[in-house]
Amino acid sequence: MSKFKMNNKVEKRIEELRKQINYHNELYYEQDSPEISDAEYDALMIELERLESEYPEFITSDSPTQRVGGKPLDKFKTIVHSSPMLSLANAFNEGEIREFHRRVTSAVGNSVDYVVELKIDGLAVALTYEHGKFVRGATRGDGVVGEDITQNLKTVRTIPLKIDLENVPLLDVRGEVYIPKKAFEKLNSEREKMGMPLFANPRNAAAGSLRQLDPKVTASRPLDIFVYGIGYIEGIQINTHLQMLEFLRELGFRVNPNISVFDNIDDVIGFCNEWTEKRDELPYEIDGIVIKVNSLRDQIKLGNTSKSPRWAVAYKFPAEQKTTIIKDIIVRVGRTGVLTPTAVLEPVRLSGSTVSKATLHNEDYIREKNIKIGDTVIVKKAGDIIPEVVEVVLDKRKGTEKDFIMPDKCPECGSDVVRFEGEAASKCTGVACPAQLKRGIIHFASRDAMDIEGLGPAVVNQLVEKGLVKDAADLYFLKTDDLVSLERLGEKSARNLVGFIERSKKNPLAKLIFAIGIPFVGSRTAKILAEHFQDLDKLTKASYEELIAIPEIGSKIAQSIITFFKQDQTKVLLEKLKRAGVNTQSLKTEQRKEDKLFYGLTFVLTGTLEKYTRKQAQEIIESLGGRVSSAVSSKTDFVLVGSDPGTKLEKADKLGIKIINEEQFESMLE
Ligand code: NAD
Repeated sequence: MSKFKMNNKVEKRIEELRKQINYHNELYYEQDSPEISDAEYDALMIELERLESEYPEFITSDSPTQRVGGKPLDKFKTIVHSSPMLSLANAFNEGEIREFHRRVTSAVGNSVDYVVELKIDGLAVALTYEHGKFVRGATRGDGVVGEDITQNLKTVRTIPLKIDLENVPLLDVRGEVYIPKKAFEKLNSEREKMGMPLFANPRNAAAGSLRQLDPKVTASRPLDIFVYGIGYIEGIQINTHLQMLEFLRELGFRVNPNISVFDNIDDVIGFCNEWTEKRDELPYEIDGIVIKVNSLRDQIKLGNTSKSPRWAVAYKFPAEQKTTIIKDIIVRVGRTGVLTPTAVLEPVRLSGSTVSKATLHNEDYIREKNIKIGDTVIVKKAGDIIPEVVEVVLDKRKGTEKDFIMPDKCPECGSDVVRFEGEAASKCTGVACPAQLKRGIIHFASRDAMDIEGLGPAVVNQLVEKGLVKDAADLYFLKTDDLVSLERLGEKSARNLVGFIERSKKNPLAKLIFAIGIPFVGSRTAKILAEHFQDLDKLTKASYEELIAIPEIGSKIAQSIITFFKQDQTKVLLEKLKRAGVNTQSLKTEQRKEDKLFYGLTFVLTGTLEKYTRKQAQEIIESLGGRVSSAVSSKTDFVLVGSDPGTKLEKADKLGIKIINEEQFESMLE
């Protein structure tokens, strides 16, 4: 391959990785709701770091390898940190710890003391004290600017509001707010009862609890803190990290007691190994060990990169594993007819929650891992959420274990089950299999798909069993009377449901593409397809070549799209959806960036608007491709004026910038 072609391929992969990482960063840091495990995330990051170090010409300052965390959310005021709140470089094994030691000693000489601390799995915060009084508290945000969560932090009882330091004008303490394991389980079980989404892990629960607009919500969660450093202090001389921790402890802060100092790297590694075994005994989650150079003078000598200090490293534990027993293997029929064997486990606690089921994927997986019913197995959480069987403990076999046999008839509809050559999945052949239909419709109505409130499994099961719905499009032909006949659905709820179904007709195209359930097309891919094709008809006619030319669409997805639209069932479904009046074209907000109404235009808002809040107006402008700036300059295109405008109006007038009121703004949107 020519170097040019090779570089093109690398650049494409780098872009793809950055997009994926930024997407997961947003979910993790901004929404506190990750979709993948930390280990999967770390693997993406490691690949990106490797490619960037091999091809430094592609490094950009906005790459996730160069930046800390996520943006502060608009809903909070922001606080600029007294010194950057950085991330930590990772070490995943002994070799990488030794590599860190080598880098340190080559910069500061061989005699180095390390302080080793537990890496608390929570949310980093900065606590600012002026003359001994707690005045401000912030999240890490992007490392430079964080979110102002002062009121929320005041509800954490172990954060002192006053300390004995009246003579010190400014002290900025850094620490980790966390939620104990027991409290996390309790919180999640309460959320489950109320039908609310569960927190994936204690870290997200702590972050979600702290980043609340209402401090009462924060106060109701049993949060705690360990502090581990100082970002800024005036007038006090401290020479080592250990002295700093002792100083903080004396002031009344909670400092974790499990801290050691070692003068050689072998003992540091020993400490890491010891805690890999012992971490379960702690009442809170830790995800690793932080190793820090003790001398502050050496720390200064080593300095920081844009993302992390060179004087510290985080040893990350391997994913937690536990032993349990497979009591049974049951089979579930999914919306595409695939039969998925699932292990029913003797319940076991794993990474902060109790696990009682694990997917076994398919028949081959069970054979390869030699899994039998009754086996003792080792399990881990693959996606922080989805438990997985790692291996069978063969030593514990008694001979009474039973082989799993894939049923030859669908457990839901009794149709034949087939497995095509070259495929791992066994499938139900029933064209009208109610299990497939039910799951397909539940998916169609789900939040990221058509988002039809009130159409949960209980209603869908009845609709399918009574024959009222034979495909998703039939939902749009339901009348209130049809729904009133269902159990546990009063007239009011029935009428509401018809209203919600009707409202969903106006959904953006991306939601519809996701909802119709093309295999391998998730909500993100659906957005890419909607933006590219703008019209469902165009997507149905797309060729394989056209599809794979779109970034992030590989051959597997392209093939799946082609096959899906060729099927008669799909053709009938789409025809019915159109007849029902479901939107099949891009809304203005979904257009290609360049085609959007306000692409390239900058707006400034001033005064009080009547119909929108500032934030809503900003969202409208941004969704149509425009930008909102806080100050008027020669680059401003429009100033949108409400009542009681400020000096921005005068400035705009002087510069001859077009000034519009709310009515004129609305007429631009038509
Ligand atoms: P990090 O969590 O790996 O390390 C830095 C943080 O460690 C600090 O900001 C601080 O909050 C914390 N910390 C805890 N105890 C500490 C101690 N004793 N001393 C110093 N710091 C301590 O870094 P990060 O940048 O916040 O996050 C990166 C990690 O987050 C990734 O490695 C990944 O595992 C996870 N992540 C996961 C996803 C996902 O989608 N699953 C997305 C983004 C990030």
